Amino acid sequence: MPGGTIGILGGGQLGRMLAISAAQLGYRCIGYAPEGDNVAAPVSADFVTAGWDDAAALARFAARCDVVTWEFENVPLAALDAVAPERLFPPRGALEVAQDRLDEKRFVEGLGGRTAPYAPVDTAPDLEDAVRRLGGGILKTRREGYDGKGQWRIASERDLAALPALGGRPAIYEGLVRFDVEFSVIVARSRSGELRFWDSTANEHRDGILNRSLLPAGAVIEGQVEEARALSRRVAEGLGYVGVLTLEFFATAQGPVFNEMAPRVHNSGHWTIEGAATSQFENHIRAVAGLPLGDTRTTAQAVEMTNIVGDDGADWLEASVDGEVHLHLYGKQEAREGRKMGHVTRLSR
Ligand code: AMP
Repeated sequence: MPGGTIGILGGGQLGRMLAISAAQLGYRCIGYAPEGDNVAAPVSADFVTAGWDDAAALARFAARCDVVTWEFENVPLAALDAVAPERLFPPRGALEVAQDRLDEKRFVEGLGGRTAPYAPVDTAPDLEDAVRRLGGGILKTRREGYDGKGQWRIASERDLAALPALGGRPAIYEGLVRFDVEFSVIVARSRSGELRFWDSTANEHRDGILNRSLLPAGAVIEGQVEEARALSRRVAEGLGYVGVLTLEFFATAQGPVFNEMAPRVHNSGHWTIEGAATSQFENHIRAVAGLPLGDTRTTAQAVEMTNIVGDDGADWLEASVDGEVHLHLYGKQEAREGRKMGHVTRLSR
C-alpha cells in the first residue's frame, strides 16, 4: 500500500521516471545498481550502489523492500535470487526470455507471432550459411545488445571478412525486413490480470536509436495494431506478466512482424507522462504494487516525443518555452555520443 517501499534494480532514466511516479503515489523507492551515473539516485528515497554479484548487499536491499521490480533488462538473473518470487514483479521468467533474442523469437513464434527470418549463429560457418540462405541482414548478439549495440549490418557474403570477432558470443542472424514504419505495443498487466494498452506511436530511429515517437501514428499502423495487440496479450498472459511490457513491431505488407520485446517501460512510451490519462511509469508502479491500473487513453490530438541524444548542440532550455512542450533532462553528467540525455514531448490539444 502507499507508504510501502518499492525496490528498483537498475539506476537509469527509466528508474528515475518510475521513482518520480512512485513518489507521487506515496511510495518510497530504493534503487540498486553498480557504480555509475545512476540518475535514479537523486530522486529515490535511498539508493544502494553495489555489484550485481554482491549477494549480501542484494539480500539487505531485498529485505528493505515490500516488492522489487527492474528498469533494466540486463540485470543478471542470479541477482533476482535475493528476492522472494512472490515479491518480484514482473516474474523472473519474463526477464529470462527477454534477455536472449533467440529464446524471445522462439517464444513469440510459439504464440503465433511473425518474426524476421532468422538463424542461430555460433560459428563462422553458421554465419556463412545464414547469409547465403537469407541474403542481406543483421547479425545481432543474442544477449546484451541495445540501441544498435552488438549489431552488424551485412549486405552480402563479401562483408563477412570485415566483421569484428564475436569472441564466442552466441548470435542470431536476421534477414532484412522490408517495412513501412515501426511501432511498439506498450501494455500494462495488473496482478489480477487486467490489461491496458496505450496508443501505438510511429517510431523513427536514427543510428539504431529511437529518435521520435509520433501520434497520430498513421493508417498503416492503425490497420495493424489490433493484430499486434492480440499477440502482445498472449505474450503477457503466457509469461504471467505483471507490470508494463513492450513489444516492438515492423509494419509490413504481410502485417506486423515482431522485432523484440522489452520487459519494462519503454522509450517510445515517454509521451504518456503528459499525453495519456495515466503514464506507463504510473501504471507500472500500480501493477507491481497491486493497485488497479489507471486509464491509458491519449489526452492530446497529436504527440511528438523527441529524444535528446549525446551533445546535439541545441539549447533545450531555450527551445522549450512556448506552447505545450515538456522538457525532461535526466541529469546525466556527461553527454557521450549515443547517450540518451533527455527527451521533449510536444502536444497539441
Ligand atoms: P533492435 O535493437 O533489434 O531493435 O534493432 C534496432 C533497429 O534496427 C530496429 O528498430 C530497426 O530499425 C532496425 N532493424 C533491426 N532488425 C531489423 C531487421 N531484421 N530488418 C530490418 N531492420 C531491422
